[in-house]
Amino acid sequence: MAEQRGRLAGKNAIITGAAGGIGLETAILFAREGANVLLSDISGPALEKALTKLKEMAPNACKIDTKITDVSKEPDVKAMVEHVDSWGGMDVIFNNAGIMHADDADSIDTPEKIWDLTQAINVKGVWFGSKYAVLSLRKHGKKKGSIINTASVVALVGSATPQLAYTASKGAVLALTRELAICHAREGFRFNALCPAPLNTPLLQDWLGDDAAKRSRREVHFPTGRFGEAIEQAQAVLFLASDESNFVNGTDFVVDGGMTRCYITPE
Ligand code: NAD
Repeated sequence: MAEQRGRLAGKNAIITGAAGGIGLETAILFAREGANVLLSDISGPALEKALTKLKEMAPNACKIDTKITDVSKEPDVKAMVEHVDSWGGMDVIFNNAGIMHADDADSIDTPEKIWDLTQAINVKGVWFGSKYAVLSLRKHGKKKGSIINTASVVALVGSATPQLAYTASKGAVLALTRELAICHAREGFRFNALCPAPLNTPLLQDWLGDDAAKRSRREVHFPTGRFGEAIEQAQAVLFLASDESNFVNGTDFVVDGGMTRCYITPE
């Protein structure tokens, strides 16, 4: 096994939704920076592909494992966190899994079942991940821990292309992360929410598809003139996971190329 060096040397990290997009880029960075990494995702085949890519991209990685987990199911999340008990317990969890359903729409057209599904994965999943993180950090007597929960810029400024269930779910992630940060600060457990801008990942690009009008309602907001990249989010997550951010707690950590600073809504 490789010697542990780097910004996350000696840390055990769990990443949910690790089979693609932001999650996989983060797993690669974490592994390169010396962390032991558990990649979890609802999709077994996607996890297998992700593991192959990670081994290519981070050949000197320390401990790497995968675990199929549906974050909306409490027993799955408990088992995922307990999976790293034999490594000494988790130090970092990136509660990143989330969905943006194709049928998510506005106040009138969003189906109730899509609302419920979105809240179950995007909100309850983050709560379960946070809950078992706290239990594990306490069980292993850790004096510090970093919990990073993926929200979105839509929680701050809304979305001109309606996706009401998704936007509400990400607002809930911001609110619960802030409260957890305050409740657990004296234990040394930090909670921060990542707020990514619209990205070049399948989650958003599949949803936008080839609908030019829908697409341009997004693009009009970008000061940089482009979508963000998953790796740009992963770099921020690495900072929040590392001890370099020891005094960063309870933030809405915005990585958006300046979009929320000049948000405009087209006619
Ligand atoms: P992605 O679709 O590439 O990756 C999401 C991963 O989550 C997938 O591998 C998927 O299989 C997994 N997943 C879905 N449901 C799950 C469940 N119930 N349990 C466990 N895993 C599950 O998406 P991404 O763009 O990398 O998004 C990651 C996070 O970033 C999400 O929370 C998303 O809402 C958020 N986000 C994305 C964007 C964007 O533009 N892509 C912007 C802001 C926030």
